Amino acid sequence: MVTSPAPTFRGTPVVPGVAFGPASLVRAEVSSAAIDRFDGTAYADADAALAAYDVAVQAVADGFVRKADNASGAAAQVLTASAGLARDKGLRGAVRKHLRAEVDLLAAVHAGVDQFVTVFTGMGGLMAERVTDLHDIERRVVAHLVGEPEPGVGLPEAPCVLVAEDLAPADTAGLDPRLVLALVTERGGPTSHTAIIARQLRIPCVVGVAGAMTIDGGRSLLVDGVAGTIETDPDPTVAAARVSADAVARSALASWTGPGATADGVPVKILANVADGESARSASTAPVQGVGLFRTELSFLNRQAEPSVEEQAEIYGQVLTAFGDERYVVVRTLDAGSDKPVAFATHEGEENPALGVRGLRLSFDNPGLLDRQLAGIAAAAAETGTETWVMAPMVATVAEAAAFADKVHALGLKAGVMVEVPSAALLAHRMLEVVDFLSIGTNDLTQYTMAADRMATDLAHLTDPWQPAVLQLIAITAEAGRQAGKPVGVCGEAAADPLLACVLVGMGITSLSMAAAAVRPVGAQLATASMDECEDAAEAALSAADPVAARDAVRALLV
Ligand code: PEP
Ligand code: MG
Repeated sequence: MVTSPAPTFRGTPVVPGVAFGPASLVRAEVSSAAIDRFDGTAYADADAALAAYDVAVQAVADGFVRKADNASGAAAQVLTASAGLARDKGLRGAVRKHLRAEVDLLAAVHAGVDQFVTVFTGMGGLMAERVTDLHDIERRVVAHLVGEPEPGVGLPEAPCVLVAEDLAPADTAGLDPRLVLALVTERGGPTSHTAIIARQLRIPCVVGVAGAMTIDGGRSLLVDGVAGTIETDPDPTVAAARVSADAVARSALASWTGPGATADGVPVKILANVADGESARSASTAPVQGVGLFRTELSFLNRQAEPSVEEQAEIYGQVLTAFGDERYVVVRTLDAGSDKPVAFATHEGEENPALGVRGLRLSFDNPGLLDRQLAGIAAAAAETGTETWVMAPMVATVAEAAAFADKVHALGLKAGVMVEVPSAALLAHRMLEVVDFLSIGTNDLTQYTMAADRMATDLAHLTDPWQPAVLQLIAITAEAGRQAGKPVGVCGEAAADPLLACVLVGMGITSLSMAAAAVRPVGAQLATASMDECEDAAEAALSAADPVAARDAVRALLV
C-alpha cells in the first residue's frame, strides 16, 4: 500500500522558536447542528428562560475569571472586564425585555446583544472595540445553552499547539505559555493581534497558514517559528532533538546584554518602542540604548479633549526621565487617525481613513495642534535634560519634511521624519537634505507599498515586510542615509524579526527599534553575523522572488 507523506504547511513566521506537541483545534463558532437541535421555546415561561440565561452567563463569567486568575497585567484586566460585561445588568435587562416579546431564548439573547452592540458602536473609540467581546460573550452563552463546550480557546489540560482560524482578543489575552507550546493561525499577518500577543508571551507563532484548519485535532505537529513551517507527524526523536537545540539557542539569547553590534563589532543601536511612562520604565531595564519610537498618540486614545501643553510635558517627561541616563528618546508627534482614532484630532467620516488626514496631515488645517505638542515635548526635554529627537509620521513630500524640521530645529531639537509612504522612500536622499535622521515604519510602508490593509487578516502574504518591493524601498532609504552620513533606523515590526534585522543592517540601517520582548533575540542574532554576512543576506533577500524564498535564502546564510 502506498501512503502519502504527512503534509508540511507553511505560513508567515512571526515569533521564533521550535515547538513539538499535539494539535488542539480552536473552534470559532458553536456548531449549527447543536443550535438546530436546541429548542429555545421549550421553557415554561419567560422567567424560566431567563433563569437558564442566568446560569449560562454565570458559567461564562466564571470561565473568564478562572482565565484571569491564570493571567497577569493587561491580559488579566481584559479578562476581568469580559467577566463583568457578561454579567452586566443592562445586558440582562435587554435580554429580559426581548424574552417578553420573543418566545425563543436564543433569539432574545441575540437581540439583547445586538442592542448593546448598537449602543457601543455609537459611542465609538474604546467602547466600539468592546463589540468583539460582546459577540464573543454571545457565542459562549449560546454554547452553554445548547450544551456544547465554549468556542474559542479552552484551558488546555496538557501542553499543545493551538491551531485556529484566528484568535479573539479574550483568547489571546488568556494564553498560558506553559500549556500553549505554539500558535498556528490560518488568517492574520505579522502585525495582527495574535502576532503581537504571541511576541509578548514569547510563544512561537506562525500566521497566515493556508489549510491549517484541515489539521486533525491531536495530530503531532513540529512548528518552526523561524522557517514558518508546520510538519505533521514528524519523527518524535528528531522533533525532540530540534526542540532541545532550540531551547539551548534561546537561553543563549536571553543572556545577551548589549550593546548592539555585528559579530565583527560594527555598532548598531538597539532601541525600544514605548507608549507611555510605564512601558518606558519597563523597557529601560532592557539592554537598549534608548527609545527609537515613542508613540505619543497611545497616551490619548481615551481623551476627549486635547491636554494642555503643561499636561503633555508631564506625560512626555515620564518617558524622557526613564531614559535620562545618557540615553536618548525619539518622540513621534501624534499619529492620530486611521487605526488609532484620537477624539480631539481625528477627522470624522472619512471614506478611506488610512489614505486620509492622519499623522502629520492633521496639522495642515490645525497647525496649533502640532505647535502645542512640540512645545510640550521641548518643555519635557528641557526639564529632564534627556537627549530628545522628534519625528513626524506619514510624511509624503520633501516640503512637509522641511516645514516640520524648521519647527523642530527652532526649538533646538533634532528633527526627523518617518518613512512610511513609498514617496518618502523614493525621495529619501532629498528628505535627508532637510532632516537629521529618518526612521522607517515598515508596518505602514508595507501596507502602502502592497496596497494591503495592515489589519486585514486574510492578506498576510502581502502585508509581509519580506516582500521584495518593500525590501527595495528600505534599501533605497538606507543607501540614502549612507550617502548623506545620517542615521536611518527601522522602528516597525520588521526590526523585531531577528533574521530580517540582519538583512536591514546589511542594507545600511543604523538602528533597530522594537518591543522590549524582541530586544534580546534580535541583539543576540545580530551578534552572530559579521557585516559582510549581513550584506550577503541583504543581497540574497533583495534578489529573491518572494518572501518565502527570501526567508529561505537568508536562513541558509545565517542560521
Ligand atoms: C509603522 O508604521 O511601522 C510604525 C512604526 O508606526 P505605527 O505602527 O505606529 O503605525
Ligand atoms: Mg505607522
